[in-house]
Amino acid sequence: LPGKYEELCQRLAEYSNLGAAAGLLHWDQQTYMPSGGGPARARQLATLTRIAHETLTSPETGGLLEAAEREREGEPEGSVAWATLRMARRDYEQATRFPADYVSELARVRSEAQEVWARARAANDYASFAPWLERIVELSRRAADYLGYADEPYDALLDQYEPGLVTAELKATFTALRSALLPLLKAVLARRTEVDDSVLYQPYAVDAQRAFGESVIRDLGYEFERGRQDEAVHPFTTSFSIHDVRITTRFNPNWLSPALFGTLHEAGHAMYEQGIARELEGTILASGASLGVHESQSRLWENVVGRSRPFWHHYFPKLRQAFPEQLARIDEEGFYRAVNKVSPSLIRVEADELTYNLHIMVRFELELALLAGDLAVGDAPGAWADKMEEYLEVRPSDDTEGVLQDVHWSMGVIGYFPTYSIGNLLSAQLYAKAVADHPTIPEQTARGQFGQLLGWMRENVHRFGRTYFPRELVEQATGQPVGGQSYLDYLRAKYSEIYDLG
Ligand code: ZN
Repeated sequence: LPGKYEELCQRLAEYSNLGAAAGLLHWDQQTYMPSGGGPARARQLATLTRIAHETLTSPETGGLLEAAEREREGEPEGSVAWATLRMARRDYEQATRFPADYVSELARVRSEAQEVWARARAANDYASFAPWLERIVELSRRAADYLGYADEPYDALLDQYEPGLVTAELKATFTALRSALLPLLKAVLARRTEVDDSVLYQPYAVDAQRAFGESVIRDLGYEFERGRQDEAVHPFTTSFSIHDVRITTRFNPNWLSPALFGTLHEAGHAMYEQGIARELEGTILASGASLGVHESQSRLWENVVGRSRPFWHHYFPKLRQAFPEQLARIDEEGFYRAVNKVSPSLIRVEADELTYNLHIMVRFELELALLAGDLAVGDAPGAWADKMEEYLEVRPSDDTEGVLQDVHWSMGVIGYFPTYSIGNLLSAQLYAKAVADHPTIPEQTARGQFGQLLGWMRENVHRFGRTYFPRELVEQATGQPVGGQSYLDYLRAKYSEIYDLG
């Protein structure tokens, strides 16, 4: 007779299956679905999402969870049963804290606010979006109350995306990072004319871009037998199983960087999912530990590896074979510098490595102030522009390239942006430990071999899936708490050299 734990796992597997089916519908919507399919697809997704939510939150699931916890008390730490029960408890508690009327109100506001935001952004009309942002801030305050928190409401929102991360800790990390980044950025900007990246802005045939990108990620270790790449307007990675993890990209025929580095980025996310231990297939543990840990893997391959000198030592000759005319007048060193040019800009998604986290800090500080009521929604555009000027020495001339640029707030998502920075910090922290354990990793990279680095990530990060919380995982993997020191060391070494800062 199956025990209560097996029964619980059966139910959680159904919950995961429903999520994967919804994921497939969503993937199709973003890649191949004709636009006429939109309304029906929205209904189908709503139905699947509702059934999945009911499966997780039903009183039967709650009863099974309690019974299974009693039945399996004392399972060894780190075992599949221990982790399944711990994460099932967390998911169940989070999902059942919100009253049904709140859930449906949030869904309604989200879908309308996104449409209003898209129009407002196109028309540079913040005033039309402001009442919706007002409602979203209010709904976020309520969410924090339902979820509960120890110190401040923002803690509850952060915890949804980065379990265990608290606001006070994040503030301290950001403050330390900023006080080191700003002088470095100033020094780089004083010499900004020394790097020319015009080589990246030329006609690059899309088919050749695709072929080159796919050959690189095959070398990195992305398995096409368990994945595929398609095109999407907003690139993303999605997993229906450990054995079916798909990525998407977007090509710009006149700019090499978006598809090339975007493909490396998404392949990083995907290799994480493909590297989860097979025994976790179909369980609620078969996903990443958090958004921040996930982003550490994408940033690792996109930036720490993909914008490194050893990487281009190997790949520049191959890229020049693919694009002989475009790259006729530049050498390996010039190309390496071009892909690392620092240039403060208004748009987060186009930011270089040195300025990216400052974009996140602007959003984090505004979110905190909005949530606390210290900043009125009507004053957000001005506060945004002032912060951008203070940190990045650029000031948006309108709200389209200022406060309206990102979709997140219109989706009702507050507390999410910091996970991008956590990912950057962790990418350097994990890489530093991998190289300490295997000092030949850079030499391997220079030969187009990535087995040691990927193997280290598999062994210390990927295989666990969601078995551990991010803090536990990172301390086990690196022997250190999550922090910014490795990232700062990495940026200082790289940019002092490129910009000859002495
Ligand atoms: Zn990402």
